[in-house]
Amino acid sequence: MVSSSVLGFPRMGANRDLKKANEAYWADKLSRDELLAEAKRLRLAHWKLQKDAGVDQIPSNDFAFYDHVLDHIQMFNAIPERYSKHGLAPIDEYFAMGRGHQKDGVDVPSLEMVKWFDSNYHYVKPTLQKDQSFKLASDPKPVREYLEAKEAGINTRPVLLGPVSFLALGKADRDQDVEPISLLPKLLPVYVELLTALKKAGAETVQIDEPVLVFDLQPAVKAAFKPAYEALAKSDLPKIVLATYFGDIVHNFDVLPALANVHALHVDLVRHPEQLEPVISQLGPNQVLSAGVVDGRNIWKTNFKKAIEIVETAIQKLGAERVIVATSSSLLHTPHSLDSEKKLDADVREWFSFAAQKIREVAVIAKAVTDGPASVKAELESNEKAMQARATSKRTNNPAVKEAQSKITKAMHDRKSEFPARYEQQKKHLSLPLFPTTTIGSFPQTKDIRIQRNKFTKGEITPEEYEKFIEKEIDEVIRVQDELGLDVYVHGEPERNDMVQYFGERLDGYAFTTNGWVQSYGSRCVRPPIIVGDVSRPAPMTVKESKYAAKMSKKPMKGMLTGPITCLRWSFPRDDVHQSVQAQQLALALREEVVDLEAAGIYVIQVDEPALREGLPLRSGVEREKYLDWAVDSFKLSTAGVEDSTQIHSHFCYSEFQDFFHAIAALDADVLSIENSKSDAKLLKVFVDKAYPRHIGPGVYDIHSPRVPAEKEFEDRIAEMLQYLKPEQLWINPDCGLKTRQWKETKAALINLVNAAKIFREKY
Ligand code: GLN
Ligand code: ZN
Repeated sequence: MVSSSVLGFPRMGANRDLKKANEAYWADKLSRDELLAEAKRLRLAHWKLQKDAGVDQIPSNDFAFYDHVLDHIQMFNAIPERYSKHGLAPIDEYFAMGRGHQKDGVDVPSLEMVKWFDSNYHYVKPTLQKDQSFKLASDPKPVREYLEAKEAGINTRPVLLGPVSFLALGKADRDQDVEPISLLPKLLPVYVELLTALKKAGAETVQIDEPVLVFDLQPAVKAAFKPAYEALAKSDLPKIVLATYFGDIVHNFDVLPALANVHALHVDLVRHPEQLEPVISQLGPNQVLSAGVVDGRNIWKTNFKKAIEIVETAIQKLGAERVIVATSSSLLHTPHSLDSEKKLDADVREWFSFAAQKIREVAVIAKAVTDGPASVKAELESNEKAMQARATSKRTNNPAVKEAQSKITKAMHDRKSEFPARYEQQKKHLSLPLFPTTTIGSFPQTKDIRIQRNKFTKGEITPEEYEKFIEKEIDEVIRVQDELGLDVYVHGEPERNDMVQYFGERLDGYAFTTNGWVQSYGSRCVRPPIIVGDVSRPAPMTVKESKYAAKMSKKPMKGMLTGPITCLRWSFPRDDVHQSVQAQQLALALREEVVDLEAAGIYVIQVDEPALREGLPLRSGVEREKYLDWAVDSFKLSTAGVEDSTQIHSHFCYSEFQDFFHAIAALDADVLSIENSKSDAKLLKVFVDKAYPRHIGPGVYDIHSPRVPAEKEFEDRIAEMLQYLKPEQLWINPDCGLKTRQWKETKAALINLVNAAKIFREKY
């Protein structure tokens, strides 16, 4: 019999219940016991859903209040002293590490949080000491949750992050000189103790995630697998399903002998179906393959025919007893359930599958290969119908878009002239001072803006009333910029709910959910739009607001767009055409917008691409270069349609470009604004080393904090930047958009920023 398994289920609940409970607890509106009870309710509900769907191996310990890596940090007592010394209750100590704690005389910032592989989920980085010791918590969470499920009559497979990944994904604490992986010998006994306790509680199998196996590994990390799994893969401990995802593991096959005693190996066959046969050929004589054929990262219905083919291939080689059907990764990255979507058009709805549907998919595939297709006939047939409908739908295929793509030429990617000639024209056209000041686009999104937008969405105010309201907001933003004396204005983006959704709603080829939330970090969730078909622009998207703003302002008005890669990365992309094709379609749509903005008298246009870096393939090499090629091309295609005298800006929310500087340079943007206020100004050295000829605005104002930097701070920062950049290269701006700030501090900070720029203007 082929069994079915799920690697992890989303934690938030059908209505972002966990988010609501956490936030109520943080605001002292829910007691600790109430919070714990709500979490228990969610875990039980999610186990039951999976049991009812017919899943054989249901995960436990996939739940986390904030983040599962943080769970491990606490469970192993790898808690830096700055958190442990206050005697906080365990759950408060946990949240203190996740989000900082400022209460009752305790004031600690959070641990560092970074992106989980190439997903939009963020994990808390294990932060380790030179003399780090580990100690298993007295009532370890995986055992507690295993028993909780057992009591409810559900036998689960506990999920743990493996010791090699736990360490390799961690870092040395500030001023600590320690290579995390060197701590493995100290950490292993704790894992053995934990596995022993799980065995004692009744767990026959555990899932141990070692996702770092998809990376290019340092030799020391690679070598760690052998001692780790010699200690953990033992007959007196639970059997191990070792899980990898988000990539292939073929380049790390030399690690597999070290894993000879693990019961099963899980691989992601959605991303990398071609690794199936090589992986099978490497398995030991009794080892089981867990075949990840149901996508944990996207919302498309699984193509049963294709998935069954893959599983059948595995069965032919290994026998049914040695194959498990599984989700490709945890379902953490998909929304909870399609059931709460009441507004989706019936046709596209048929194409989607969220977590609560995907769990049934693994069960159906396992049943189809075990009992034969007839045993799930109706489900296979309706799946086949949905696949056909999607492939032939008018919403998927737009011949006009394909035609436009076929006409793209190489020349369309390049500006008319090189930068020096462009700059000469822009100087005349825009007459900007030295050290021009600007902002990144958004101004504070006030409560009033949210209320009016809500009313408009609900039809409580007319489009005309809403338009008047937006114009009033723009008037105010312009008045403030006049008062502050900024040099390049923005309209403030009051009409935008979100920098990707706003464009998705104005493009053909997109669909939207009302409740398709996915956890991004902690209690924060995002609701990515879905690219369902060929993308095109039926009408201008931003011209009206920008034109209105330009008419009202004394200084050049900057048009503001979200770039093709960011639109793609922060949406659920199609899985039926390559992402480069989708990026190119988005680029064509944005190109039309850019040209229309120019025609409307907007001569500075910023195309934001903050998601460019996160799209980088996990491994360096050919794949990464290929990505950068099409990513850069799509940016250039979207921006190169303008005259030399029009200035193209781009924006990034970070300043670590070292790994792919050539791509940033290849964008050929006239001005780049980047985050830099909290980063080392030394990062700017790369612009000098590579003789970067164009202009740069390294952020001088941390927009994540309500703090108002003094004028002197701005001056010091500018002076520091001038060690690296030429005066005529330097723009003065905040790190990013100001939408999350309040007006009061925004104005106060920008006054100081503008004054600091003026001081330097006098000096040079
Ligand atoms: N223009 C956007 C804003 O100012 C940029 C946001 C971002 O980079 N994340 O809000
Ligand atoms: Zn930004």
